[in-house]
Amino acid sequence: MDPAAPSLLLIEDDDATRAFLAENLSADGFGVATAGAAGEGMRAIEVRKPDLVLLDLGLPDRNGLTVLDRVRSADGLASRIDPGLPVIVLSGRVDEADRVRGFVRGADDYLPKPFSYSELLGRIRAVLRRASGRPLRGVLRVGELTVDPVTRAVRLAGERVDLSAKEFALLHALAGDPTRVYLKNDLLRDVWGYASIGATRTVDAHACRLRKKLSRGGRTYVTNVRGVGYRLTDPL
Ligand code: CA
Repeated sequence: MDPAAPSLLLIEDDDATRAFLAENLSADGFGVATAGAAGEGMRAIEVRKPDLVLLDLGLPDRNGLTVLDRVRSADGLASRIDPGLPVIVLSGRVDEADRVRGFVRGADDYLPKPFSYSELLGRIRAVLRRASGRPLRGVLRVGELTVDPVTRAVRLAGERVDLSAKEFALLHALAGDPTRVYLKNDLLRDVWGYASIGATRTVDAHACRLRKKLSRGGRTYVTNVRGVGYRLTDPL
């Protein structure tokens, strides 16, 4: 398999459907992992970090929507689940109420059964295309901090934090992988759009202001890893 191929996780309890989809999606170039129940699916999301989840709603242990809820409410730091993970709901429940409920809970798309394989393939490609243009979709949650890349609202323990445009861009970059140490030169390139060794003081100045704005009570964010760069928070 091409290591750059998008990886899919199929959570579906019906053996025939699961085998059919896994075989065909693999043949179409996707990496495919499968799970037959909601609990197994949640573990697979954490361990495999798929690019997209195909989620059946009628599962033997829990309704599939509980999986969707747990993904969307995930703290990207504590659980290692990306709350913006693309999810396509597959369901035998065709009534409108379920369709609306699926979207309200944050499904990226919804396909009632029975669906044609080619339609599913088209939906998967469309959702992956949208997701790749916005790698940091959805509200990012790190501990008590939330960062909304759409409204640019930042809250700490529910309280609004006002940031300058560059402070927000720096925070957004660090929040993409909260415990990773980002090199100063990489932050310069990604946030300021140029690479100049002497200008790392620009990163330091912004990081210092950002840390002050984000320190309330005992918890602090934006850790300076001396001589290397910054990370948003220390590993738990
Ligand atoms: Ca089912």
